[in-house]
Amino acid sequence: MISSEKYEAVIGLEIHAQLQTASKLFCGDSAAFGALPNTHISAITLGHPGTLPKTNQKAIEYAIKMGLACNCEIVQDNYFARKHYFYPDLPKGYQTSQHTTPICKGGGVAISLDEATKIVELNRIHLEEDAGKSIHDWDDHFTCIDLNRAGVPLIEIVTEPCLHSSEEAYQYVTEVRKLLQWIDVCDGNMEEGSLRCDANVSIRLKGETELGTKVEVKNLNSIRNVKKAIDVEIARMIEIVENGGIVIQQTRSFDADNDSTFALRDKEEANDYRYFPCPDLSPFHITQDYINEIQQSLPKLPRILANHCQLHYGLSTYDASQLCDDKDTADYFLATTQYSTNYKAIVNWITGPIKQYLNEHGKSMVDFPIHAETLANLISLIDEGKINFSIAAAKIFPVLLQSKQTPLQIAESLNLLQVSDTEEINQWVEKAIASMPDKVDAYKKGKKGLLGVFVGEVKKLSKGKADPKVVTDLLQQKLS
Ligand code: ADP
Ligand code: MG
Repeated sequence: MISSEKYEAVIGLEIHAQLQTASKLFCGDSAAFGALPNTHISAITLGHPGTLPKTNQKAIEYAIKMGLACNCEIVQDNYFARKHYFYPDLPKGYQTSQHTTPICKGGGVAISLDEATKIVELNRIHLEEDAGKSIHDWDDHFTCIDLNRAGVPLIEIVTEPCLHSSEEAYQYVTEVRKLLQWIDVCDGNMEEGSLRCDANVSIRLKGETELGTKVEVKNLNSIRNVKKAIDVEIARMIEIVENGGIVIQQTRSFDADNDSTFALRDKEEANDYRYFPCPDLSPFHITQDYINEIQQSLPKLPRILANHCQLHYGLSTYDASQLCDDKDTADYFLATTQYSTNYKAIVNWITGPIKQYLNEHGKSMVDFPIHAETLANLISLIDEGKINFSIAAAKIFPVLLQSKQTPLQIAESLNLLQVSDTEEINQWVEKAIASMPDKVDAYKKGKKGLLGVFVGEVKKLSKGKADPKVVTDLLQQKLS
């Protein structure tokens, strides 16, 4: 398209992440998802007069954790502000949020693009409470309101307008989700709404430095939809401008069924939220000692761990990044390295049979039943030539998933141990040679490639148990 060479897209993302605390941000109500509607709603959640909120320390800790994971500056003197607006699922008539003192400032998140790494700059991360949920499709005549979610702690992670394509946005949300899960502060479940993303999109002529008028697209409930919505929006804006129109500032919604966006409301220049410090909550100070303590408790972050795996275990960039896709997988790899030094084999098991098993059963690594030491034993059996990989994967692995026997015991009881005994293998070799006299002739006349056919035949006769090295040696002797 000519026009996309003429224009540059500018994108800024706002991600709301629910913190996985047991209770809400300002009271003891459960923050759990999925309960019967309106069962987690004390007088504090409902904002009844005379009730006093109290800040959940865990939520502050989690926000700081994410801030440190993103190299943000942690703001030590904080207060909560009331952000006023009317919404049926906002019982208090205001949302308790942060205004001039977001708990984290600046920082950035590294993403991998084709060749390069880009740091997506953050503007801030602030703490706030979630609103309730309006449900429009339960009743023909009424909107139902569930206030269980009202008051659940959120962090809002806001980027600078520094992204320039839907692909960058895709990588960024993927990375933020991975980080949140890695440090265990949010489950990252976009379907259940624990992670929500709004995309701010504008276009401008290439080379222009002023920002164009932006549109904010809401309701992006998967990372793929973030990407799609941005593409749709960029195309829509270019078309408007190319046809001599101007983009107006709007809030729009993404319709995933039709791959289009539609206007929710035109946005006035500045919303008047009448922010003021919440008089019910005392300002809070975060000490440097506390920040240091959290810093020390952070696990090695995915990129650093991936680097470590490359340097320490000689893994390729690709293998290392696959392992570090989620923390449980990386931990399982590290646990297995305690018992086996065949690091490449461990990776192959994890990214091969183990991943396949988990995908097929809709499970994640935490549910994986085989102990790291057992996997290491299985790898040793293969390295010692007692079984081959295909038999191990096809026959022993499935038994290991549901039994406490060792790999060796299973191999013995299923009669799978490889035969290296020359006498026994010799019989299969003789038989194979005898069954293909014409191929023997051809081989002797120089068609050395036929060796594989003989090896295959012995494999068949021995049901895969003949040690391939002994087989090859014997065949070469006999055929020459
Ligand atoms: P608002 O007050 O409307 O929420 P903010 O200035 O707080 O706007 O920015 C919200 C998000 O929109 C940020 O991620 C920011 O980077 C992004 N943003 C702001 N202006 C633009 C623009 N012109 N084009 C694209 N993104 C923008
Ligand atoms: Mg906004």
